[in-house]
Amino acid sequence: MKTRRISKVHALHTLDRLEASYPDAHCALLHDNPWQLLIATILSAQCTDVRVNMVTPVLFNRFPDPLSLAQADLGDVEELIRSTGFFRNKAKSLIGCSRALVEEYQGMVPQEMSALVALPGVGRKTANVVLGNAFATPGMVVDTHVGRIAGRLGWVTVRTAEGIEEQLCKLLPKERWTQAAHVLIFHGRQCCRAQTAWCSNCPVVDRCPQVGVGRQR
Ligand code: SF4
Repeated sequence: MKTRRISKVHALHTLDRLEASYPDAHCALLHDNPWQLLIATILSAQCTDVRVNMVTPVLFNRFPDPLSLAQADLGDVEELIRSTGFFRNKAKSLIGCSRALVEEYQGMVPQEMSALVALPGVGRKTANVVLGNAFATPGMVVDTHVGRIAGRLGWVTVRTAEGIEEQLCKLLPKERWTQAAHVLIFHGRQCCRAQTAWCSNCPVVDRCPQVGVGRQR
């Protein structure tokens, strides 16, 4: 990535502008507790939040807690989550994760990154979603939108999710990590899309080193 790295002050002013432009940016996955958010986030891999939100009410009605999902039949879970894609691996992760919670944490979701990423099917992105949105512990979620826009804005100079997370965590104050990810995701969905950026309508067009990237809407 050839983009010049932007200063902290510049990035914070840009983030201020984005936060003002997307005041309602929030976690779009429906959930009532940390376990439901953990399960929904595992399901959201390679799937839209809208689709996940169609599946989880049925899933949680059938399996309302970690114990019931830990004891579920694999085929039953596969059928319920089939429309989210990669359903065989996801079903194994949901059951395995719930079993680990029951066996190691009395059915509770742990609140430490190291414990979360040790659960089946849970990587740093999922762990950061849970930390930031279920436990109010700052988490820098790096998904495809966050990675793309952080690169376009010159906030990061690497491409791996781990590298992007590390650079963003150094660039932005900890207390802003969770909301920064929400804002970047909203911006990525509504304006700065992968193939078609809408630069003429962008609230940070004057602060972006890659204005005009890709096809323009
Ligand atoms: S100016 Fe264009 S490329 Fe830059 S952040 Fe805005 S929409 Fe994305």
